[in-house]
Amino acid sequence: MRAYDVPDWDGGIKLDAMENPHSFPAWLVEQWLGVLRQVSLNRYPSASAKTLKARLAELYGVPDGCSLCLGNGSDELIQMLALTVGGPGRTVLSPAPGFVMYKVLAATTGMDYVGVPLTDDFSLDIDAMLDAIERHRPALVFLAYPNNPTGNLFEREAIERVLDAAPGLVVVDEAYYSFARQSFLSELPKWPNLIVMRTLSKMGLAGLRLGWMAGAPDWLHEVDKTRLPYNIGSLTQASVEFVLDHLPQFEKQSEDILRQRQRLVDAMQQLPGIELFPSSANFLLFRVAAGTADAVHAGLREQGVLIKNLNGHGGVLSDCLRVTAGSATESDAFVAALKRCLA
Ligand SMILES: *Cc1c(COP(=O)(O)O)cnc(C)c1O
Repeated sequence: MRAYDVPDWDGGIKLDAMENPHSFPAWLVEQWLGVLRQVSLNRYPSASAKTLKARLAELYGVPDGCSLCLGNGSDELIQMLALTVGGPGRTVLSPAPGFVMYKVLAATTGMDYVGVPLTDDFSLDIDAMLDAIERHRPALVFLAYPNNPTGNLFEREAIERVLDAAPGLVVVDEAYYSFARQSFLSELPKWPNLIVMRTLSKMGLAGLRLGWMAGAPDWLHEVDKTRLPYNIGSLTQASVEFVLDHLPQFEKQSEDILRQRQRLVDAMQQLPGIELFPSSANFLLFRVAAGTADAVHAGLREQGVLIKNLNGHGGVLSDCLRVTAGSATESDAFVAALKRCLA
């Protein structure tokens, strides 16, 4: 294995990790600092984070009777799920290409990983999924909705068939909910094996590290046994509670990011040799002429723009790159740099 690789990058335009380009306005920073001043750092944080969980459940409409579990980012939740149901001979299954941490955390928790190829247009290959579920009896299925790195939403009906067929937990990972606005949260009462996972990272709080998941209390009671005590620090708990009182601020930012995504689509469609894929998230996957992806990625980098090179993953991702929708200035700089690379 290789450790999760995050490139060193300072100063330039960073469009590789689906970060929100907007920081807090000054007045919000002042109020937030006021909240942080009250936090007692000499004390352990609330271990159950009860207040924060109740606030999240209320704001996001978690159905009555469901439990919540918090993680230091949703990456930690994926790890907790794997620790809970894992062990030798247990399998994690997800469509491929998918979010890399499903495979990484299966490996580090000693589970087997099965990736089921998506169709050429990045839809769920439902027959292949059902076959693989039958054959491997996965303890955990992950479906990112929308999917990363492809950006599309799988069909709801296909996801429901997976939920029906899976012998274990099915996690619908809604990391891009702020942009897609599609959810399985209201379906929780219908499916005892469904877990819905969210994160605050992509909506503009990647630095805070807070993920949450909702599901049947019996399941989350078991998952909670793998959680390290006090996994959510006091500063994070206080900051998230503060942020939740100012959600419209973040919703406005998400709307702006969606506008920037559309501007990127409009500009990139004019460029020769670019195949652009539809996206319901805050990023775009695109393919460049065969054999040129590494050079285009390096060329952008030389011009101070960092995006994600997916060419090395091969298969349907050959010649593919992924760019985050940033601010208007960042998007313009990216498009200008891309034009120069293509020329
Ligand atoms: C970014 C991402 C995550 C991880 O988010 P964190 O909460 O920052 O750990 C999880 N799932 C998907 C699909 C993602 O793209």
